[in-house]
Amino acid sequence: MTDQNKIDRSDIFVGGKFLDADSKARVEAVNPATEQVVGSVPDSSETDIDRAVAAAQEAFRSWRHTAGQERAQILAAVADGIAVRAEEIKALLTRQNGAPRWWVEQDVGLAEMVYRQAAGEAAELEEERIVEAMGHRTLLRNEPIGVVGAIAPWNSPQVLLAFKVANALAAGCTVVAKPSPETSLDTYLLAEAMIEAGIPKGVMNIVTGGRTAGAAVVKHPGVNKISFTGSTASGISVATECAKALKPLTAELGGKSAAVLLDDANIEDFVASIQRECLPFSGQACFSTTRVMVPRPMHDDVVEAAAQQLESFKFGDPADPETIMGPIVSDRQRERVEMYLKSGIDQGAGLVMGGGRADRFDTGYYIAPTIFRDVDANMRIFAEEIFGPVMTFTAYDTEEEAIALHDATEYGLSGSVFSRDLERATEFARHLDTGQLLLNAQRGVPYVVRDMYNKSAVGGGVDRIAGFQQTKGISQP
Ligand code: NAD
Repeated sequence: MTDQNKIDRSDIFVGGKFLDADSKARVEAVNPATEQVVGSVPDSSETDIDRAVAAAQEAFRSWRHTAGQERAQILAAVADGIAVRAEEIKALLTRQNGAPRWWVEQDVGLAEMVYRQAAGEAAELEEERIVEAMGHRTLLRNEPIGVVGAIAPWNSPQVLLAFKVANALAAGCTVVAKPSPETSLDTYLLAEAMIEAGIPKGVMNIVTGGRTAGAAVVKHPGVNKISFTGSTASGISVATECAKALKPLTAELGGKSAAVLLDDANIEDFVASIQRECLPFSGQACFSTTRVMVPRPMHDDVVEAAAQQLESFKFGDPADPETIMGPIVSDRQRERVEMYLKSGIDQGAGLVMGGGRADRFDTGYYIAPTIFRDVDANMRIFAEEIFGPVMTFTAYDTEEEAIALHDATEYGLSGSVFSRDLERATEFARHLDTGQLLLNAQRGVPYVVRDMYNKSAVGGGVDRIAGFQQTKGISQP
């Protein structure tokens, strides 16, 4: 089946222009709500990637010497260009990845904000300073690292690409971006915004395609740094290739974040966080706090309140602005979630609701919102990233046990602590092996630097401008 407004692109954005791709291979985007093909883009060949890297290398010669103020003006104009196209980008995102309206609002709004923030920082960048130490003077120069390969996933495609692209450009680097094959069509709108902003030719390039195209960007000797967001499995392949070439890498990877309720937690605060923190975008966010740890005496009440909340969510067509939860991104991902649902049941978890496909839909990759109770740390649904609308509840008896349960995964991306006493929650959070913690699900400014721990990241995860710079020292006589 094909969408009436299908968009087929045969071009990639290289050297400031939309050029016909050398590759005739295609990757298709399928609407997860309708199962219709919404469009296709080139699956870029090595020749395509060579052309993009050559354009980025050529552009780097002059872009690296531009003043921060000049780069700031362009980045601010890119943010304006995103704002102008925001509605078109959001609609296209929902058609490609099935994200509900509230989630794409956040993705595109944050992307615009990231370009503005990077513009502000570029304008203030300190390029050189003198350091006096041990009787010597040294001139320290922050210099851009070169051509950056920016590889992004499909779940928050605009903002995750923006963190890489905006900060790399602000630092004076040039970029070859490789969006996810599920969400490439919207990046043509980003390219238009770049052109309109007056970005010099070759400073920003976008090559479409899948894993092979991504791997070719990673391996390319003309790419000086990789900034990657995706699964831990892909991150390991990327890190292996970067290690072989001694190429710097920053990677944001998978997660299995937890919400821990202390015994004075307000259950309503936790329930209110389910939409945005536990199962945002049907649990397809890296930070989803899908594992919930609850003091044993509160366990049943909390499970019941969570089930009521999930029942109350409008579930279905992601294009409907009222919808809170929609489909899973793809048939393949739905099968993966189903495999985990089966494993939960086989390993003895208690199924409270859901547990399979949402049978009221004939089309679309829908999985019913699911809750498992009595989940223990040996179960796969407790320890492994499911990336679906599945919450697990585990009872604990002591805070030491809650900390041990919290830390019983290989990840360390995010998490929440719930308590009426913020001092107590903060003290508890100090003991957790994870990088980004919310108290009572209050999210701070997303642009604040934070690291992701363990197998959730390489090099902290999120690059800011400094991640795209290297420092030269010139000793002064
Ligand atoms: P994925 O790893 O399959 O793909 C991510 C991107 O990497 C895509 O563009 C893909 O084409 C490319 N890619 C895949 N293998 C590659 C390789 N070997 N070399 C180079 N490029 C390669 O991930 P996905 O399914 O698109 O996204 C979901 C995953 O991303 C989840 O595990 C999620 O937790 C993670 N994620 C993490 C964060 C974070 O901030 N830590 C944010 C969002 C998503």
